[in-house]
Amino acid sequence: MAQWSRRIAVDEFRLLGGEPTIHPNLAAFVPLVRKHWPAALIRIVTNGFFLHRHGDLPSMLAASGNADIALSIHHNGSEYLKRLQPVFDLLAAWRRDHGTIANVWQSHENWTRRYNGSGAAMLPFEDGNPRQSWEICPARHCKQLHDGKLWKCGPLAYLGLQKAKYDLSEKWDPYLQYQPLDVNCSEQELDAFLAVEEESACSMCAAKSHPFSLPVPLRQATASGEADLDNVAVPDRVVLAAPVDSQRKTDVLQNKQTISRHLDAPYVSIVVVNRDYAEYVGKTITSIRAQSYSHFECIVVDNASTDDSHAVIQGQYRRRSQVFGRQAR
Ligand code: SF4
Repeated sequence: MAQWSRRIAVDEFRLLGGEPTIHPNLAAFVPLVRKHWPAALIRIVTNGFFLHRHGDLPSMLAASGNADIALSIHHNGSEYLKRLQPVFDLLAAWRRDHGTIANVWQSHENWTRRYNGSGAAMLPFEDGNPRQSWEICPARHCKQLHDGKLWKCGPLAYLGLQKAKYDLSEKWDPYLQYQPLDVNCSEQELDAFLAVEEESACSMCAAKSHPFSLPVPLRQATASGEADLDNVAVPDRVVLAAPVDSQRKTDVLQNKQTISRHLDAPYVSIVVVNRDYAEYVGKTITSIRAQSYSHFECIVVDNASTDDSHAVIQGQYRRRSQVFGRQAR
């Protein structure tokens, strides 16, 4: 982090896994990230089940400021939600005592496959349309800091671990050749890394979405336990009882880079105004994003369009963008 903090600015730094709460010193990462990126939103994405092991976490989050917890819901079955109730209770106590902010992400609604199959039998999709694979990819702006290097995305960063664990087919060899960015890279290499969208490695991912549901990810489900399930809170009641500050579906697409090159140059705000130009507004936004200068924000103001403008804009910028719209009267 120390070395990269001199090279890149970070809007949002997520601590995730696997499951980050398995790490015994999770809380210590919060001030560490804050030290290196003072303005970043620090977000711990967790399934919540081991949060109780981290009694120092809420005070660390409070001391850090601009830090929160995203409780990722992996299943909406009543058994699963029943097991989450102690997590909600814990978060309620943390909010009361420390002001901890927690959000519920309905992650299970948006699971899609990155690899075709699992374990030793998994294969790259190779649908022959890496651009389309990238367009629908939820990981497309989730750069990973792994082994001291910057990776395009999690699936590439951790493919080597899959290889170490399973005897993967040679079909994966081209993707295992992917070269992450070293911290001693040139400015040009860093710019190129941040600017590139699809690349050949994206061929390993599907060009159309492959949703799937996880089985209930709990280890113990006894017959008597299941008999009790009729009496547990239904999902909405559990969620409504959650001590969370907001609830949202997990965004399918993250539409903005969360990192950029550190620049002494100014941060530029580009304002796009639109009314009934659905045909052009998407191209305009794409053009802005394609430029080499990366230290900017794009604000789209839609003035009561009655055509498809809003859908086009939201389609490209569903998250982490500022879209101001008003309804036609
Ligand atoms: S390789 Fe490309 S399409 Fe696949 S997960 Fe990474 S960014 Fe997404």
